Amino acid sequence: MMREYSGIAPRGDLQLLQRLGDKLKGRSFLHINSTRAGGGVAEILQRMIPIMKELGIEARWEVIEGDERFFDITKKIHNALQGNREQISREMWEYHYEVNRRNSERLDLDADAVLIHDPQPAPLIDFRKDGRWIWRCHIDVSDPMPEVWNSLRRHCERYDAAVFSVAGFARAMGTEEFIIPPSIDPLSEKNMELGKDDVSYALQKFAISPERPIILQVSRFDRFKDPVGVIRAFRMVRKYNDCQLVLAGSRATDDPEGEAVLKEVMEYAADDPDVYVLLLPPFSDRDINALQRAATVVLQKSLKEGFGLTVSEAMWKGKPVIGGAVGGIPLQILHGATGFLVHSIEGAAFRIRQCLNNPDMASRMGEAGRKYVRNNFLITRQARDYLSLWYSLEHPGSTLLKL
Ligand code: UDP
Repeated sequence: MMREYSGIAPRGDLQLLQRLGDKLKGRSFLHINSTRAGGGVAEILQRMIPIMKELGIEARWEVIEGDERFFDITKKIHNALQGNREQISREMWEYHYEVNRRNSERLDLDADAVLIHDPQPAPLIDFRKDGRWIWRCHIDVSDPMPEVWNSLRRHCERYDAAVFSVAGFARAMGTEEFIIPPSIDPLSEKNMELGKDDVSYALQKFAISPERPIILQVSRFDRFKDPVGVIRAFRMVRKYNDCQLVLAGSRATDDPEGEAVLKEVMEYAADDPDVYVLLLPPFSDRDINALQRAATVVLQKSLKEGFGLTVSEAMWKGKPVIGGAVGGIPLQILHGATGFLVHSIEGAAFRIRQCLNNPDMASRMGEAGRKYVRNNFLITRQARDYLSLWYSLEHPGSTLLKL
């Protein structure tokens, strides 16, 4: 399988990955998160585990279980860490801990390296056995509610290391911090090459016209992704340019707010025949791939964003991407070169029109974007980084840099 990446992923990444794989062969690497499907973390794990196994590492992926109350609490924690005002009471934190304690009895936590993804399973550190424990933060913690961050930090600081997607998210913590941006897999169903027929088949299935320009945003139905803002921007554009808008999203089992947001979006789209709100079943990777390939311009107009895998996915397909200038998006979009960063609905509308009216510019941006993703955001690079981190935690040296 690693051989399949040669010629696609940068050679240097593959060489180093293979070397690290040789060093860590036969050792165990456990990942834990809170959902199998929906959202970027599951997306990456789906592909990261087979790659690790291919290298000879005993990689496992476990998912913590929780009830409705648990996921309501963790969604509130998530929202507060991304800057919303939320009340997280002591009882709620205790319940968060208690559900994790119960999961610790069910899960086999024995591994040489354990990577715990996001706040939901963070308290599992209390039940660590052996090995190196790393906390992986995927969310936008550039400006969290201080009291919520402080409560969570009690757990995170007890890990051997913490990993953030973007340097600006790293906080002064009592543990070592590393920056590893997420990535996409060029060989997955979501990102592999598709034929023209596959693309037209998908458009036909959703009754979208192949003749008219398509503006697309793929996201969970989450207010931080600003789906209503996208519709408003689209309506400004459509006064001058013929086009259609596709908002595609699915459910995530750890996101209880999805239904309400979907309803809001449906109401806002009302019976506008040019706005397609598609609720896709989980694992609709091929359809999403096709929609991204069919799009003329791709949006990710988030208001907060840990990284935004959808941005790299669209860039990989050679599309100009217009993204909110927040979180991990500016790491991916080079403003004016691979797409545009925007700060408002009006800004988004302006840039959509610029892309629609300048197809040559749009395709140049798309090409530049694909190269940029190849060099920086493919999964082979991220696998390399995870293994380097694990290796370096086992072989600590002197600190050269005082960060
Ligand atoms: N995604 C999907 N189906 C959907 C909506 C999203 O498969 O209906 C995928 C999307 O292609 C991307 C991931 O879920 O790979 C979302 O990751 P991102 O980092 O953009 O956002 P998150 O959901 O993690 O906040």
